[in-house]
Amino acid sequence: MKFIETRGNDGQKPSSVLFSEAILSPSASFGGLYVPEKLPNLDTTFLEGHLSSHYKILALDFLTNFGIDIEKEVLEAALNRYDAFDDPSNPVPLSKIEEDCFVAELYHGPTRAFKDMALQPFGYVLSKLAQKRGEHYLIMAATSGDTGPATLETFKDQEGVQVACLYPDGGTSDVQRLQMVTEDAENLKVIGVEGNFDDTQNTLKELLASEDFKEELAARDIKLSAANSVNFGRIIFQIIYHIHSYLELVRKNEISMGEKIYLVVPSGNFGNALGAYYAKKAGLPIEKILITSNVNNILTDWIKTGAYDLTSRELVQTESPAMDILKSSNIERIMFDKFGPTRTKELMDDLATKGKSQLTEKELSSLQEDFTASYSDDAECEAVVGAYAKKEYIMDPHTATCMKAYETLREKNLKTVVYSTAEWTKFSPSVAKSLGHEVKDDTEALKWVSANTNVSVPAMIEGLFAKPIKHTVVVKKEDIKGEMLRFL
Ligand SMILES: *Cc1c(COP(=O)(O)O)cnc(C)c1O
Repeated sequence: MKFIETRGNDGQKPSSVLFSEAILSPSASFGGLYVPEKLPNLDTTFLEGHLSSHYKILALDFLTNFGIDIEKEVLEAALNRYDAFDDPSNPVPLSKIEEDCFVAELYHGPTRAFKDMALQPFGYVLSKLAQKRGEHYLIMAATSGDTGPATLETFKDQEGVQVACLYPDGGTSDVQRLQMVTEDAENLKVIGVEGNFDDTQNTLKELLASEDFKEELAARDIKLSAANSVNFGRIIFQIIYHIHSYLELVRKNEISMGEKIYLVVPSGNFGNALGAYYAKKAGLPIEKILITSNVNNILTDWIKTGAYDLTSRELVQTESPAMDILKSSNIERIMFDKFGPTRTKELMDDLATKGKSQLTEKELSSLQEDFTASYSDDAECEAVVGAYAKKEYIMDPHTATCMKAYETLREKNLKTVVYSTAEWTKFSPSVAKSLGHEVKDDTEALKWVSANTNVSVPAMIEGLFAKPIKHTVVVKKEDIKGEMLRFL
């Protein structure tokens, strides 16, 4: 199986690469991304064959059918990372919250957010590739909260990979910060940056673009890779849980094989939703994918009108910070799939030069065959969290954006899977507030919510507050390069 480029080929890079190459060096011609040339088949025969499979068996078969150049033993060991999830027999449990609505909980891994679903096995695969080639990679991440902890956790103590993680000092929750600064491993570096998330991300971009930083890396024989969802190595693991959710509904006799369902996906960089799209395209019986956002609702506009317009927007901070995103990187892969490389390059160039792009009527209706969208503001999310708490289901603010879509966007009476992308413990002050109790910090919120509802705080979150702090560096933008070179 080969991977090709979303914006076409520039005559310098190879026009197609193997999976290993696409994940080690995820940047394609003209700043584009790698996409698979074709997808494995998810027809009824495949699905029926996995009705009683464990998640890992389903995953291994799917990955094998993909024909990627990673040895079976490596894939098996990577998937064994799911054994450390809450329930090793099922890493993604499905909870029924309405007669026709189910929550697939993607947060039962070590950092309590859905990023673990892909980053756990991906981190193992990438490190093994680096070791096999005798190469040394640096992964740099700017995080507003969930990607950082999950990236550090997956690569800790893995040979061949060093990770540097930048976060805005004061811009994350206590739990998220502690998850990063208490990580104890030689190959990890966590740096607080004075400023907000935008400053942090821009600092990282400047550093990665700077010639003398590149020279310093080359002098140390270090290559750069990426662990965000531009890397297809993450996307491939994000197709699998959509298949699993479908099979869970069949197993529970909620649907019969072949019956269509809706998926509701709280979205930012669109990696989760892209996984759902690929599953649908490969044959999984999905009626439509419902995309949800917070007030940073650029995706809602895009799917409703075909306009992707950055010029009229400023990023707003919300209670669902993992979705506070305006430049959503994976819609490019949807564009490529539907409109081809020439048009994708044109649309992406428009976005870069004019700050906006516009689909034609025909393109828009093609997009709407697979997607529909809505958004919820913080007050609506609070009301949803409060309402479900009364029904004894505690959800986080990201998950809460799904419920309006479930209530208003469905055109048919079909069973619906809503994705829960974070455990409430990561956003406990917001959850406490939704339950009518204002608190000053995470410690107090965790205590209050667990004392007043049916949920408890998992050991890895509780333990964070007693763990020694290993990373104390907080620097000004200008000092990041020096700090990085000391680490390397
Ligand atoms: C990353 C994240 C999202 C957004 O997922 P994308 O794949 O980037 O669309 C939603 N919720 C939470 C809690 C996340 O961490």
